[in-house]
Order: sequence, then structure tokens, then C-alpha cells
Amino acid sequence: MSEVGSRISVHTGDITKLAVDAIVNAANSSLLGGGGVDGAIHRAAGPELEVECRMLNGCKTGDAKLTKGYRLPARYIIHTVGPVWQGGGKGEAELLASCYRRSLELAAGRECRTVAFPAISTGVYRYPKDEATAIAVATVDAFMEKNTAPEAVIFCCFDEQTAELYRQVVAAHRGA
Ligand code: ADP
Repeated sequence: MSEVGSRISVHTGDITKLAVDAIVNAANSSLLGGGGVDGAIHRAAGPELEVECRMLNGCKTGDAKLTKGYRLPARYIIHTVGPVWQGGGKGEAELLASCYRRSLELAAGRECRTVAFPAISTGVYRYPKDEATAIAVATVDAFMEKNTAPEAVIFCCFDEQTAELYRQVVAAHRGA
């Protein structure tokens, strides 16, 4: 069991409400807003967010870019682009892991102590939830073992069923 296990927690609810240093957005490559968690974040942050996003020239799958949080309680938004699930043979696992790593690198670079992630790619991008959760937990845990920042990561799940899956995967990971 790694000591960093205690730095990871699971929360059920709307990520736009969290007063953390940074929330992560499951964006699309245009960074100009969309549905799901992306739409919710743009609505809650206000129109200034899209103005800043327009200056970023998009984002590649597996990469991440940081903006201010505007009207959100979170100081920053880290926009990352998850892979669309295409059956698993198109590098999806490595791209999804890269989303988590790049987001944490940007958070650490801004000295964020607390970061919240949604379940990237598991909505309209159709990544199977079990596999996506295993990648999320393993990648975040590995990063936190090597780095002191961020101090805490919250997996913010929109529904209780997803939160239960995360709790099981986190518990199994700690026992590994
Ligand atoms: P993707 O395109 O990466 O699949 P989605 O936004 O469609 O992104 O879904 C990603 C996950 O975010 C899904 O599990 C969805 O239930 C969840 N989600 C949607 N809205 C919110 C929200 N306001 N807060 C947290 N999670 C959310």
C-alpha cells in the first residue's frame, strides 16, 4: 500500500461547484465548448472562458491546456482532450493516461494543492467505465508517488454508480 493513497478521494456531484485550486475539463480538441461536463463548465465559468480558450489554438488528444476559472469557485480550469473510444486498438489507453499526467503536470506547475478530475472520455467519447477508471486511478497514483504537488486529487463523479466504481478501484489499488 502506498502512502499516497490517502491523497486520493472520491466525490459525487457537479465538478463546477468544487472550491479546489483546479478542476479538469473533459474538453474537445477545439476547446470552444461542447456538451456534458464541458458545457457545464463553460456555462458556470461565464463567457470570458471562451474568449481565453479561443486564444489557445485548440488542444491535441492526450494533451492539456490551462485557463483561469473565471466565475467558478476553482482558480484554474485544466482542459484536456480524452480519446474517443474506437475499440481499444488505437492507443486509447495511453492517450487517456496522458490526459491525467499532463493535467497533473500543469497543476503542479501552478502550485495547485487540490485538483478535481471528472471521468474523462466516459461520456459521449464512450470509453468503457471500468477500464477508464483503472487508468485514471493508476496514473494519478503513480504521479503522486513521484511528486509532492498536487497534495490531493478528487475524482468527481456525476452519479453514485460511477463513484462506487471509483471507490472499489481505489481500494483495490491501495491493497495492491
Ligand atoms: P467525454 O467527451 O470526455 O466523454 P463527457 O462530458 O461526455 O466527456 O463525460 C465525461 C464524464 O463527465 C461522464 O462520466 C459524465 O457523467 C460526467 N459529467 C457530466 N457533467 C458533469 C459535471 N457537471 N460534473 C462532473 N462530471 C460530469
